[in-house]
Amino acid sequence: MSRFEGWLVGRVASSTAKLALGMLGGLAAGKSIGWPVAGTVIGGIVAGLWMNTRDARRAARLADWLHGPTDRPAPRERGFWGELAYRVERLLRQRERVIAAERGRLRQFLSGIEASPNGVLLLDAQGHIEWCNGVAAEHFGLDPQRDLHQRATNLIRSPVFVSHLQEGDFAQPVVLPGAVDRGTLQVLIRAYGEGQKLVLSQDITEHERSDAMRRDFVANVSHEIRTPLTVLAGFIETLSQLPLSEAERQRVLALMQQQTTRMQALVADLLTLAQLEGSPRPPSDRWVGVRTLLEAVRVDALALSAGRHRIEVGGGADAEIAGSEAELLSAFGNLLSNAVRYTPEGGQIRACWAWRDDGGGCFEVTDTGIGIAREHIPRITERFYRVDPSRTRETGGTGLGLSIVKHVVQRHGGEVQVESEPGRGSTFRLVLPPLRVRRRAASNEALAA
Ligand code: ADP
Repeated sequence: MSRFEGWLVGRVASSTAKLALGMLGGLAAGKSIGWPVAGTVIGGIVAGLWMNTRDARRAARLADWLHGPTDRPAPRERGFWGELAYRVERLLRQRERVIAAERGRLRQFLSGIEASPNGVLLLDAQGHIEWCNGVAAEHFGLDPQRDLHQRATNLIRSPVFVSHLQEGDFAQPVVLPGAVDRGTLQVLIRAYGEGQKLVLSQDITEHERSDAMRRDFVANVSHEIRTPLTVLAGFIETLSQLPLSEAERQRVLALMQQQTTRMQALVADLLTLAQLEGSPRPPSDRWVGVRTLLEAVRVDALALSAGRHRIEVGGGADAEIAGSEAELLSAFGNLLSNAVRYTPEGGQIRACWAWRDDGGGCFEVTDTGIGIAREHIPRITERFYRVDPSRTRETGGTGLGLSIVKHVVQRHGGEVQVESEPGRGSTFRLVLPPLRVRRRAASNEALAA
């Protein structure tokens, strides 16, 4: 016998017993007044009515509980209705627990999508917004609460997006402008369920910018190499086709040599840049004496100037920098060579090391050269940016020197500062942070030229 059959038998037996008790009571009462049959019937009816009324009251209390908010406890009854209320309540609480667990899982899932760096937008079969994460809201200029259930194409009005959504061919992503000032977005749509759509957006502004920079860079390099190559080709033609005197031949060869040197310098700078971009940060525990660096760049500057300038190099005897000696040499050397190249004959150039109040240090080069107009200063560390291209060519520059300097300094945690006035001269400063510089016992030699 099942549990419920047993319970049914018990209930029938108890009802029967109550009915029998009522009838017996009625019989006893009827006998005393001489109406035993009527007494028995009335006793049965009273017992039945009593049982029915009690059942109805219990059922009504249960129905009342079921109609109202079910977070209240179910009515505690005895017997059938008590059992029913208990079972309904247990079922309800079980469902509530399952729903709460599902809600928790959904919340976790949504907060996972919320954490995505990409925008996620869910559209129903009619193209209404069902849900979107914060990134998508930012990409498309939506309000995640207010714009729910709105038609997406009413809010995302880019014609590219609207036609892509309408065409229904989602094999390829589309590129469209983001909401006001949001750059460029790449949007990928995937259909799922019964006509719903998942819209994924990614901000590709940076990617596009670096693509454009790479294209510019390749164009610039090609241009820079093509110019000396064209000149060389012209000279080769001249040499092979024209009968030149020995003096003319020597002159052409010298010019060819000049162009070759220019190309070599360009290739060397390009390799340096590529190396800087591709290698790990310079070590922070290898210490390079500033004095050694200054001595090396001083010798090069003197050779480049060939006595046309007064060059002073000083300080740094007590300083060391943590980093790459080759990179630092290249940065210091570039600044000094620029000072020599952009300072007319008779000018003065001073390079020195100075400690800073914050514990950092800086390498500073000051010249009395041609200077740089204010509007050019923010751009001079860009690759191939020249204030005056013809002058750079004259002085043999590649247009990459300062971008190498900037790279090196940034890799050492520092920055480049420039102060300049046209016609009066410039000061370039490589400022290094305290973590990258330290003092050591000074030796008293002075560097001068
Ligand atoms: P370049 O090979 O042309 O010298 P750089 O990157 O070293 O390339 O410098 C970029 C531009 O900055 C130069 O073309 C020049 O116009 C300007 N410049 C750099 N250093 C100086 C300086 N000391 N005085 C004046 N102008 C300078």
